[in-house]
Amino acid sequence: RASLGGLSKDPEVWEEDVLPSKGGGEKEGEKARIAMVVIGHVDAGKSTLMGQVLVSTGMVSVREARKFERDARALGKASFYLAWMMDEDGEERAHGVTMEVGQKCIELPHRVVTLLDAPGHADFVPQMIVGAAQADVALLVVPATTGEFEAGFAEAGTGRDGLSQGQTKEHALLARALGVNQLLVAVNKLDAADPPWSQARYQDIVTSLTPFLEQTGFKSERIRFVPVSGLTGENVKEGGREGGKEGGGGLREWYTGPSLLTAMDDFLPAAKFLREARGKPLRMIVNDLAPAGKNVGVSVRVLSGGVKTGSKVLILPIGDVAVVRSIEVEGSPAEVAGALEHAEITLQGVDPARISIGSVLCKGKAAVPVSCRFAAQITTLSSLSVPILRGTPFQMHVQSLEIPVNATRLTATLAKPLSEEGRGAAEVKKERPRCLTGNMLALVEFQCARPVCVERFEDSRPLGRFILRQKGETVAVGIVTAILPDA
Ligand code: GDP
Repeated sequence: RASLGGLSKDPEVWEEDVLPSKGGGEKEGEKARIAMVVIGHVDAGKSTLMGQVLVSTGMVSVREARKFERDARALGKASFYLAWMMDEDGEERAHGVTMEVGQKCIELPHRVVTLLDAPGHADFVPQMIVGAAQADVALLVVPATTGEFEAGFAEAGTGRDGLSQGQTKEHALLARALGVNQLLVAVNKLDAADPPWSQARYQDIVTSLTPFLEQTGFKSERIRFVPVSGLTGENVKEGGREGGKEGGGGLREWYTGPSLLTAMDDFLPAAKFLREARGKPLRMIVNDLAPAGKNVGVSVRVLSGGVKTGSKVLILPIGDVAVVRSIEVEGSPAEVAGALEHAEITLQGVDPARISIGSVLCKGKAAVPVSCRFAAQITTLSSLSVPILRGTPFQMHVQSLEIPVNATRLTATLAKPLSEEGRGAAEVKKERPRCLTGNMLALVEFQCARPVCVERFEDSRPLGRFILRQKGETVAVGIVTAILPDA
């Protein structure tokens, strides 16, 4: 634990802030907010589809779309969705804070959906992790074209060039491991299926994806499929850009379900999580930072609790104290940053060189634990190619934190996972196994390269889940079961 001795006399950094009853985040009569990450294999049509969504919801005019399309081409990608996501507004620039994960909102009749970008290429999986760690729900885009669905659905790690690896499975698994519990699957490019708008092809994809997604831990009632074409706009918003007359004729013959936007507007609001997160001590994770004059500008996600301007916060693992000079939520100045919100915060009195991405801001009383060692339950992926031994090194991702870790003890393999909270008696298959291979459930102890802020999963879901990667491939996901004293 970091030394908190010097702080005990400063009540301002010690006690949690008393927040207005609503605590930020959700005001009376306001539309429920949902953070959605868009995932799927490269070329699944994510950008095209999201572009169509932006135009259909009026977030972008056709004229602006052309401008973004030009910008996108200059960025080497002929889709305006990414350009739109990357378009910083003037205010952001003035603060000198650039977001690692683009954040923009689309407004639907009942929901405001914050879009989180997640590039599809294998090299970008760490960014996808940052996006998914902040998301409540995910939109998984899969192409229905011959061969393309199959390529995307192939086991990750089967190809060497990164492009031939299927990312559909890995993305779905990562999203679930990071806490996403609702999934909307857009079966895309149906205009180019064989034959176009084939109901049989759509059904085949639903049938092959469903068991995998359920196995991954998504509840069947929280998975929904929608057939679309991002290119023609069919079934994005009834009829899409072309009115659905020529392009969508085939789909209309058999499909009577909701459009993509209707399904998005139907996502369950994260009310339960919001209530839970509000009731817990302050935890803000630093996703990005930049010096701002004498101060430091940080992009944070409030994982739990909340903070007011003028308040003093403790920055861990470094143990420094800073004053919250100003807060901005969704581009507007705010008094409070509340649970589950993304905020831009100016911190005074701390050296920017000492804060890093993955630092946690909290209060002294219920401070986040700081440790180099922890115990966990992990699930190895079927794509794991080299067995895990005692001493095996990994890159660990916890929210936006990325850090080298080593497996220091293989405690046991398990027949059955611990309860969802990570508690309960483990059903041990084998004590002290020599190694772990793919598709295994195990209890393992880890040593981190530096002190980190992680928590038991039962205390904090967002800081209790992690992902292990090796040489650019995800090999396991896990939950923290105990914080261990430094050896
Ligand atoms: P991303 O890598 O997932 O963002 O995919 P893009 O949106 O860049 O699309 C990849 C390619 O698929 C591009 O050539 C698109 O024109 C094409 N494409 C995207 N959506 C559709 C669709 O609904 N139908 C057809 N026929 N092609 C599409």
